[in-house]
Amino acid sequence: MMSEFENNKEKLFTFLERFRESGVLNHINGENIEADSQQSFENISPIDLKKICEVSRSGLSDVNLAVLSAKNAFSEWSLFPGQERKKILHNIATSIEERAHEIALIESFDTGQSLRFMSKAALRGAANFRYFADQAPYGRDGESTFTDSQTNMTMRFPIGPVGIITPWNTPFMLSTWKIAPALASGCTIVHKPAEFSPLTAKILVEIAEDAGLPKGVWNTVNGYGEEAGKLLTEHPDIKAISFVGESATGSMIMKQGANTLKRVHFELGGKNAVVVFEDADLERAADAVVFMIYSLNGERCTSSSRLLVQESIREKFVEMVKQRAEKIVVGHPLDPNTTVGPLIHPIHEEKVKNYFEIGKNEGATLLTGGSVEGPGGGPYIAPTIFTNVSKNMRIAKEEIFGPVLVVLPFESETEALDIVNDSEYGLAGYLWTQNVTRAFQFSQSMEAGMIWVNSENIRHLPTPFGGIKSSGIGRDGGDWSFDFYMETKNISFATTEHKIPKLGA
Ligand code: NAD
Repeated sequence: MMSEFENNKEKLFTFLERFRESGVLNHINGENIEADSQQSFENISPIDLKKICEVSRSGLSDVNLAVLSAKNAFSEWSLFPGQERKKILHNIATSIEERAHEIALIESFDTGQSLRFMSKAALRGAANFRYFADQAPYGRDGESTFTDSQTNMTMRFPIGPVGIITPWNTPFMLSTWKIAPALASGCTIVHKPAEFSPLTAKILVEIAEDAGLPKGVWNTVNGYGEEAGKLLTEHPDIKAISFVGESATGSMIMKQGANTLKRVHFELGGKNAVVVFEDADLERAADAVVFMIYSLNGERCTSSSRLLVQESIREKFVEMVKQRAEKIVVGHPLDPNTTVGPLIHPIHEEKVKNYFEIGKNEGATLLTGGSVEGPGGGPYIAPTIFTNVSKNMRIAKEEIFGPVLVVLPFESETEALDIVNDSEYGLAGYLWTQNVTRAFQFSQSMEAGMIWVNSENIRHLPTPFGGIKSSGIGRDGGDWSFDFYMETKNISFATTEHKIPKLGA
């Protein structure tokens, strides 16, 4: 009988055929369209670095066409009844669920992320659509406030066509996270997926139209960030940019969007601390630390990449983490036994490996991990731990975005807090202690947008997701998403014949 792994590979082969034949074309106004220049670039799989297919390389005329399509569709979609939008978004969720295995296989092959995580990510994509589908009928809701002579009605309206620019780390899930609330709000969109991982974005827009989304509401343009992405951020008819990616890119987008006063929502990088006190449940803490740094190949914005451990338990706890790390299976991402697959691309591997050299030159000790051989010859990195790290080292300050953990010991709460907050980033933080008072106080003093106490990152969609400092601007989730994709308007009614100042009368 065929193993699950062999079965996965065979199914993937069938699913990929269409991309191998026609490449990844743009999707504008319901049509598959080549880039106007007919230029394309190669998309490779990180597993074997072999070409999967060609991808359209969009320029000005393509971005203009996509934006025009989104602009034309806006007048209809923005007025669609909320209940209708709700129905369509639920239909999209159902189709994602039906095609979850296909999406997960393709995503694994395109990104190198192991199937065990991509299967869940595909279903989370469906859950994102369901959550925002249910909110859609209430997006316009506001509040009424009263004075003796006026009644104020506050309401929201979709802001207009928006640009959505996504990265390569979990491209399918992250795209749904942005696109679902935009559509629920009544915005139309132009999506620019990451050039390293364009496949599932194409499937997603097709699913949406098959599920009843009117043509032109959702347009996808492929291409390089500095070309297609930049043009999108500069376009006057795009009213807001929702961006997930590196902090440096966020800064560029802010500049690019300045002339058109673009509203921006940024989810950027992180160098997140997990703080383990001596009174913590060490077994659970070790499981969570290992999960949060080595799942998704460590290519995870909320990864717990800085382990702060109290000196009294340092040796014991580091050993617990090391033992787990060394048992993690590094391998082919479609193999159900694999946890860590290849990094996205040799360019990214170069960056991660460079930090190995930087760390050693700074005097840190490579306790375990480093580059390893893997099936297909892609850029595989084993779960890595650096010890003898101090807070001013570059490996302790900069986002490595790979399966690399740095260990920073501390003696006191004050010292721990100083290390946590001595960072340009502030996305997430994790805290392990059984002392309620300490948990309450310390979590409030940690400079980050999201803190989990005695837990790994568990996303709850009604809660705000986002970072402070260089980790982002704005929040996703709950009503925060609607605030971004909608304009707020106040209408004030006079309810009495109040006295109007008479000037010149
Ligand atoms: P990136 O910034 O290089 O690219 C992200 C996207 O931006 C891509 O689609 C790219 O083509 C586009 N882009 C690049 N230059 C552009 C420009 N000048 N104008 C417009 N678009 C441009 O990021 P990446 O390497 O793809 O992703 C990894 C980064 O994303 C990490 O820093 C990670 O922390 C971050 N990330 C953050 C979150 C979060 O929620 N905070 C989630 C996932 C990833």
